[in-house]
Amino acid sequence: MSNKEKNCIFCKISKGEIPCRKIFENKKFLVLLDIKPVNHGHILVIPKKHVVWMQEADDKTIEDIFKLTKKMMLTLKKSLKCDYVQVSVVGNEVPHFHIHLIPRYKGDNFKNFPTMEYKESEADKVLNKIIKAI
Ligand SMILES: [Zn+2]
Repeated sequence: MSNKEKNCIFCKISKGEIPCRKIFENKKFLVLLDIKPVNHGHILVIPKKHVVWMQEADDKTIEDIFKLTKKMMLTLKKSLKCDYVQVSVVGNEVPHFHIHLIPRYKGDNFKNFPTMEYKESEADKVLNKIIKAI
């Protein structure tokens, strides 16, 4: 095990070394209440195996974690009567792949990401760069 993994807060939580408010657990995943919620009922879905970025996880893990995520979204809607659930995979706050599920309500007025405009021909350049890399 690497030092980074040893000091990883989500690895420690997965192993039960740090307590959490657990919602669901199986062999591969853990679902817990975020201690600093954007909204009440903000939860995290994490794989127990340490990977930093989502794209580093194997395909089966991705398949299974998103199936579990869907199940948890339905659970949040049912239990908290939210209008929808925001899914966010950012990955730079704790360096261990995790999915945020945030209960949202119409008119809760959270700001979305700031947006920008493309200058002339910039959009096509970016588009072509991405397409070439597929
Ligand atoms: Zn970790």
